[in-house]
Amino acid sequence: MSLNDIQSRIRKAEAKAGRTSGDVTLIAVSKVQPNQRVEEVLTQGHRIFGENRVQEAAGKWPGFREQFDGIELHLIGPLQTNKARQAFELFQSIHSVDRPKLATTIARLAQEMGHCPDLFLQINTGEEPQKAGVLPRDSDTFINDCKALDLPVRGLMCIPPADEEPSLHFALLAKIAKRNGLSGLSIGMSGDFETAIALGATHVRVGSAIFGARDYG
Ligand SMILES: *Cc1c(COP(=O)(O)O)cnc(C)c1O
Repeated sequence: MSLNDIQSRIRKAEAKAGRTSGDVTLIAVSKVQPNQRVEEVLTQGHRIFGENRVQEAAGKWPGFREQFDGIELHLIGPLQTNKARQAFELFQSIHSVDRPKLATTIARLAQEMGHCPDLFLQINTGEEPQKAGVLPRDSDTFINDCKALDLPVRGLMCIPPADEEPSLHFALLAKIAKRNGLSGLSIGMSGDFETAIALGATHVRVGSAIFGARDYG
């Protein structure tokens, strides 16, 4: 697959779902990928990328930003509070706001720095103990607490359990977002982004289908 193939599959899925063309933002997930492949995708004109580790992004993206204008970075992996300040410097959007303590830290930094990345709150729709995110039953409270902190909450994010039908999780997330008046849905990865678009994804996070399999060596 290539960037072009994925973009045309996204446009087709939008049309099939009766959605406006260009509704869905493609986040190219570049974690662990060799710089050369990332540079190819930048050269093809793509500017929106996702990383799951602050440290890795800090090593990779300042250099690319000197070469290419208009890069927009999304943090899609867990954020430790002691890395939040660095995340503010690197990322335009954080998809992994997954606990009250992190929300409070982000609110304090936003006050201090006078700006804040766009935020997505992560919901653990599968209630998996090893996975980040607030439980569905706690989500309304968490969303309201984040709004009360004046945080720029754009929407919700989830990562469905690997062995379950993702559409059930996407639908649950969409329902929680709707009843809380949130329009953003960060759902869908290489294997299921078309399903996610059918269920209302506004942001899809696609890695290996664009760059090839990740080599963790
Ligand atoms: C790695 C990752 C992705 C991309 O996964 P692919 O299957 O390679 O598309 C999406 N979302 C999150 C949170 C990830 O960590």
